[in-house]
Amino acid sequence: MLCHVCEAIFSKVPDLLELNSKYIEFDHHSSHASLHSSATNGCYICSKIVEFIAAKDFRTDLHSVPPVTIWHVDRSHRKAWPTAINVWLSNHYILDRPQYGPDAGIYANEFCFRHVVPHDPSDGSEARLRPTAFWDSTGSAETISQIVGWLERCTVHHDLCNLRPETAWMPSRLLEVTEESGILSVHLRDRSQLQFGPYITLSHCWGTTGTQNLQLTTKSLKSFQDGVAVSTLRPTFRDLANMAWRLGLRLMWVDCMCIVQDDDQDWKRESALMGKVYANSWLNVSATAAGIDCSGLFASRNGSRPMDYFHTQYDKYGETATWEVTTSEIWFDEVEDAAVNQRAWVLQERILSPRIVHMSKSMAFWECRTLQASEVFPDGDLPDEESLNNYGQLKRLYCQSRSADVYDVRDNWGLLLFRYTMCGLTFETDRLIALSGIASEIYNRTRCDYVAGLWSSQLPVDLLWRVDNPGPTRSEFYIAPSWSWASVKGLIWFSRQVNVCGLYTQILRCETSLANAADKYGQVTGGEIELRASIGSLDWSGVQDKIMYKVENLTISVPDESGGTYRIREISSFPVMTDTLTFDGTEYAELHTAYVALVLHKPEDHRFYRDVETYGYSLKGLILNRLPCKRYMRIGVAGLHYDTEQELEDVVSKMPKQDITII
Ligand SMILES: [Zn+2]
Ligand SMILES: [Zn+2]
Repeated sequence: MLCHVCEAIFSKVPDLLELNSKYIEFDHHSSHASLHSSATNGCYICSKIVEFIAAKDFRTDLHSVPPVTIWHVDRSHRKAWPTAINVWLSNHYILDRPQYGPDAGIYANEFCFRHVVPHDPSDGSEARLRPTAFWDSTGSAETISQIVGWLERCTVHHDLCNLRPETAWMPSRLLEVTEESGILSVHLRDRSQLQFGPYITLSHCWGTTGTQNLQLTTKSLKSFQDGVAVSTLRPTFRDLANMAWRLGLRLMWVDCMCIVQDDDQDWKRESALMGKVYANSWLNVSATAAGIDCSGLFASRNGSRPMDYFHTQYDKYGETATWEVTTSEIWFDEVEDAAVNQRAWVLQERILSPRIVHMSKSMAFWECRTLQASEVFPDGDLPDEESLNNYGQLKRLYCQSRSADVYDVRDNWGLLLFRYTMCGLTFETDRLIALSGIASEIYNRTRCDYVAGLWSSQLPVDLLWRVDNPGPTRSEFYIAPSWSWASVKGLIWFSRQVNVCGLYTQILRCETSLANAADKYGQVTGGEIELRASIGSLDWSGVQDKIMYKVENLTISVPDESGGTYRIREISSFPVMTDTLTFDGTEYAELHTAYVALVLHKPEDHRFYRDVETYGYSLKGLILNRLPCKRYMRIGVAGLHYDTEQELEDVVSKMPKQDITII
């Protein structure tokens, strides 16, 4: 049900639909007390807002500010929900974060309303209404039966989902689930002891405490082989064994129970196969609700409702209409935003697995190469398109489809790394290893050489990656050569390959040395790249709040920006176009002097006005710090703008070509 305040929106909907107006605005509840009272009385929208406020730790002492100030309503442009309207309820909240102090901002709850056609015009049958309430737990028989339904649909009807890298590959070890007198156990088996069969994998957060008793170690190996009662496993593993059994699967693979954790050789050998383990699995189960404490796959639903219906007389003929109401970003909130999907390792597990069931806090979500669905939307017409496109595209690209364009696969490397570097890693040394499964898949299809996280065929342009604000810093210990994105912490952006009109760098040699010979795409212990490039000196110095810089006789002063990016000179305010020095770590700004190795120049597209072809030219280069023995280290990237090609060529002509080595 909806309260009278929430229902009032439908007095305005006819205006929106018939007058073709873009959006309408009006007030919602005028006090916290009234909002909470509506939520307690069962209003779906008010209870979602109250849940949102509670989850975000907003300060609640703001009685002077109405809890929700504006209805903002417009037509939906969602492909899956073309007839829907979007409703945003926005408010000024204050987020209390002890480390930063109060942080005020506008936060909005977004809802989607879709008109339910009462009768199917083709056969006059009643509209099918979706479930609004669920059984107590996501471990219920009904949820398992829905997962079985998705599995059947996917394995029988989805061609793309059934492409497998190898026909009968199995991991070195698997856990076999057995039952005796109603008691489930798991036994660790070597591949040689098993007949080929489908197996289930797990994506989970490792947690921080009490992990010793569940790991496979040289000491516990024997007891794992003899069999361990499922009831003694930690909750997430216990639930996985239980779920595998109920789905009719007998084999499962869990990293910390199938790789000997205190055997370095075993870890090196098996971690190099991780991509294959997921790519050849039958089903991946993601412990989305479990958070970081291994608290189990199945969540209690606590009567929380994923959607609601209400009836109203809204049109000019006074007919009663039925609307379904749901939050617009169910997938984002419950799947993308979950702790497990912030883990770097999980990205390749998600991309390589043919099909995944996310066991979230309110329901099961399905994700395969063909369908993304949930228990409420079992056929896949979820409202939040943007989040759905996130991984769907990448999953299809990296599956073993012979028809996919290999160039697309490699060109999407920048998009993939952007997502990857957003995620967290427990061990920095895993930065290349946790991506090696995907890199290996790309190599199998493109045969391009892979050098410390970059594809040799995309060089030198891909050397121009840059770090995002706030400026990250390099690790204290060696992870990768300075020209590789893997050498820095934090979010990475790649430059697009388009419109390059002049290259100033030639790659003479590029080599890396591997930490583990079994993993060609994993950790490196060294790497060098030799370039023939136009090199010039670069000076910048802090003068109070100004930064001076000079590239071959050109000196300009500009304000210092935080986070390691320096806007050097403002070319125009709209579109904002500035010369920039982006350092790989804020500490490099203190050097005040370095070298620039030019990489390329390209026309600066004017994205806002179609009739203007270019907006000058930009020159892109690497900022290098000189080390002994004619070697250099990358410390950032520079982007410089020129109005004419002649002006640009004048600068380039003063920078002689040299052969240099960057480590
Ligand atoms: Zn309400
Ligand atoms: Zn499928």
